[in-house]
Amino acid sequence: MTKKSNDFNRNPNGSNQWETRSNEEIQIIINRHPKNWTKKDFRGEGKNNQKKILTRKETERAGLVFGNKGGVKQYLNGKLKCSMCGFFKNLDEFPDDKYGSSNGKRSNCSSCDIIRNQKYRESVKEIS
Ligand SMILES: [Zn+2]
Repeated sequence: MTKKSNDFNRNPNGSNQWETRSNEEIQIIINRHPKNWTKKDFRGEGKNNQKKILTRKETERAGLVFGNKGGVKQYLNGKLKCSMCGFFKNLDEFPDDKYGSSNGKRSNCSSCDIIRNQKYRESVKEIS
């Protein structure tokens, strides 16, 4: 295995037998699997898994968080760690944030978001 393998297009005609899945759907699939799985494993080319779960195109998509990559987001058993309360929660418990980093989700969970908004409103009140 060389690191030189160029990122050539394996599917030049764009013919895909796979339905186009959204990043969120793909992220959910990734989250369901062990966090030591690499992109290769999801393509069925790795040592943890030989079954094709995601296409190359899907694994190369920007914005996906693979467990093996240390990033801002912390995952455990498919759950994301809330940056405020520190609990691991399901992705759907996080508010959508299209400006949010990597997965389009707020880094804090919905319940914390409510608290955060309340605090914000209070702080605004104090100033005015
Ligand atoms: Zn929280």
